Amino acid sequence: MIELENICKTFRTDEVATLALDGIDLRIDDNEFVAIMGPSGCGKSTLLNILGLLDSPTSGNYRLSGTEVGRLTENDRARVRRGQIGFVFQSFNLIDELTVEENVELPLTYLKMPAAERKAKATAMLERMEIAHRAHHFPHQLSGGQQQRAAIARAVVASPKLILADEPTGNLDSKNGKEVMGLLNELHSDGTTIVMVTHNAHDAGYAGRTIEMFDGHIV
Ligand code: ADP
Ligand code: MG
Repeated sequence: MIELENICKTFRTDEVATLALDGIDLRIDDNEFVAIMGPSGCGKSTLLNILGLLDSPTSGNYRLSGTEVGRLTENDRARVRRGQIGFVFQSFNLIDELTVEENVELPLTYLKMPAAERKAKATAMLERMEIAHRAHHFPHQLSGGQQQRAAIARAVVASPKLILADEPTGNLDSKNGKEVMGLLNELHSDGTTIVMVTHNAHDAGYAGRTIEMFDGHIV
């Protein structure tokens, strides 16, 4: 379960301070599918990054599965991130120098899984995402839809309890976007909690709940 209490985030650059999140209270139960919507710059990605332990709030409390995230060491944060959370980004974020299969194996390498087991899991996930025939290709050799399917395979190969998706269909045409949403929907049916930022009302329709943000607040 995710519990956020009065989360604030200020970004400081030389002269300017931007209040990106201004008192976010939010509870998300296990196996919810939540969509976050709102205009550009309202704090959606900042919120998602904090949920994913990629960034820390300036103030406020974040409990993830009962753990007070603010008290974790950097090592513990990395362990939670790698063991429990999968990320899907608009820009796919695959590593160009690695093949699709190597990209998908990467989270398992971080978990120090033996090579044979890693390969078996990666192959099974690539098959499930219908991208196994491109296992030995490099990301630039794939279409956008194929890249996002590979990115989802990488996000879920370590069986995370929580998937955070930041505009996962933002760079896809509507056919590929529908396929990607179908995959996320399947993962949700399997028991995964999903929090997804989207601009697309149709995609938000897959979620059980939509949160509307404006100017650092939940409306
Ligand atoms: P959204 O994802 O809703 O478009 P963001 O969460 O990316 O919005 O950004 C919220 C606000 O915080 C914006 O004003 C943005 O310019 C600012 N911001 C985001 N990240 C940074 C950063 N690393 N440094 C400074 N300002 C940032
Ligand atoms: Mg954003």
